[in-house]
Parts: sequence; C-alpha cells; structure tokens
Amino acid sequence: MAILKVLEIPNPRLRCTAQPVANVSEDIRRLMDDMAETMHALSNAVGLAAIQVGVEHRVIVINAEKEDGGPQFLYKMANPEVVWASEDRSTSMEGCFSVPEAYAEVERAAVVHATYLDENNQPQKVEATGVLATCIQHEIDHLNGVLFIDYLSPLKRERIIKKLEKVRRLRA
Ligand code: ZN
Repeated sequence: MAILKVLEIPNPRLRCTAQPVANVSEDIRRLMDDMAETMHALSNAVGLAAIQVGVEHRVIVINAEKEDGGPQFLYKMANPEVVWASEDRSTSMEGCFSVPEAYAEVERAAVVHATYLDENNQPQKVEATGVLATCIQHEIDHLNGVLFIDYLSPLKRERIIKKLEKVRRLRA
C-alpha cells in the first residue's frame, strides 16, 4: 500500500469528470486500498475521491458510521450513484483535503440511497443518513469536478481562497 499525494485547489485536475470503471479489477482494488491508507494518514478524514489523488476513475472511499450511531465502516465504492435523494435537507459543516483549513456549512439532501460496486465487484445499495449521506454526496461531487466551496456565496468562497493563499505564503 502507499500514501498518495492529495491535490489541492486551484489544481485544474480537481475539475475533471471521472470515468466509470468497467469492473473492480486488481488495479482498482489496489487504488481503493491506497486511498484508504491515505485517508487514514490524514487526520479527521471521512472520505476521499480518486480525483483528489489525480486518478480519473469513479472511485471513492468513506469511513463513517453505517447508520447513525452504528459501527464505523470503511466503504470502498466504485461507480457510486445516488438513485434517490430526500426532499428533506440538512446542513452540516464540511471540510475537504483539497481545500485545506477551510470549513463551511453546506446544505444537502438529508437521506440518499446510493448504488455502487464494492471491492469484490459486487453491486451494493446503501440507505444513508447523517455523516454518511453528506459524505456520499460530497465525494460523488468530486467525481464530477464539483467542490463544496462551489455551494457557497462568491464572497465566502473568495474569503476561503484568500485565506488559503495566505496560509501557503506563511508556509513557504
Ligand atoms: Zn472533498
């Protein structure tokens, strides 16, 4: 396994649309494992999309409670797709390893049903609420080149980008 480099804004590769995988092959399984290891190496990581490590496949990993209050589970998903979303919305604080040190409230569907292929190439369906629902929507957005800051007002987005530039100047 390997820890992969996570791309940060404004890297244009984060805006690419990822392509579906034909099947979950040995290569895709290795990618899932590397992404999971990368996620564990980053503190407070809940999810990671392949696009964030520069791979344009529709693959995501999520470490979240299976149901609200259930045990932690490491989801490895290929071709994840929301097949149903509740009209009920919920707002939660989101962050992203591709937008370091920025957090903002984003409103999304409170409940989603999603289908995907697991690491054994088996079709699965999950009925997600809470953090898992938020995370599935956030990670699938990545596969379509969408970032959580896209949902913010231009002013808030600009503030996050400015703050990041400042942090980078201080680091340099
Ligand atoms: Zn993200």
